[in-house]
Amino acid sequence: MDNTLINKYQKLRNSIPKEIKLIAVSKTQPMNIMEEAYAGGIRIFGENKALDLRDKYEALPKDIEWHFIGHLQKNKIKYIAPFVSLIHGVDSFDLLKEIDKFGQKNNRVLNCLLQFHIASEETKFGLAIDEAVDFLKSPDFKSLKNICICGVMGMATYTSNDDIIRKEFKDLVNIFKKIKSDFFANQESFKDISMGMSGDFALAIEEGSTMVRIGSSIFGSRL
Ligand SMILES: *Cc1c(COP(=O)(O)O)cnc(C)c1O
Repeated sequence: MDNTLINKYQKLRNSIPKEIKLIAVSKTQPMNIMEEAYAGGIRIFGENKALDLRDKYEALPKDIEWHFIGHLQKNKIKYIAPFVSLIHGVDSFDLLKEIDKFGQKNNRVLNCLLQFHIASEETKFGLAIDEAVDFLKSPDFKSLKNICICGVMGMATYTSNDDIIRKEFKDLVNIFKKIKSDFFANQESFKDISMGMSGDFALAIEEGSTMVRIGSSIFGSRL
């Protein structure tokens, strides 16, 4: 029984500092696996499809913290706005404004991370630092009352070269520090750096991650 997903989760949880949030990335996992994970005590899940997130939220007990970790389309915000704990991948001001609207409609403040493009691959989403600075200093941004920017998120290049990964994580930490000091110096809620997945979370933690998003090391490889 050593290889159950709960065993893998517990080993992982015990191996990383307890102040670091571990998000169990359950994307593509069917309901029977979700139930097994819940029964074993996992209470923080990450999904990258809005409709899957909503369906799983509806089917499972309500003491779960749900994180949206993927690329969010504007027309899908409505499915997750009533309950989502944190939206990791905000990569445009337009999207942020739309999230704010749905926060308003649902009478809640939606927690968001700004996703930055730190990898060398073209395919990974994310803001450039100048883009973020431009909207963060705008009056338009200051008028948004139903979002809270809690920090930054990024994905490193998929490579076996640790030096490259480490450098990209350092870049994200520097972006975090700059944005914190320029725009959120007095805001305690701006505190999170979401970086690290199954293949690179150890490096991410060494470099200052506060949240790791781990899928395959808990659930096995996705089909
Ligand atoms: C799938 C995914 C993860 C988890 O990836 P694993 O390699 O399975 O740990 C983390 N973050 C994002 C944004 C993902 O899409």
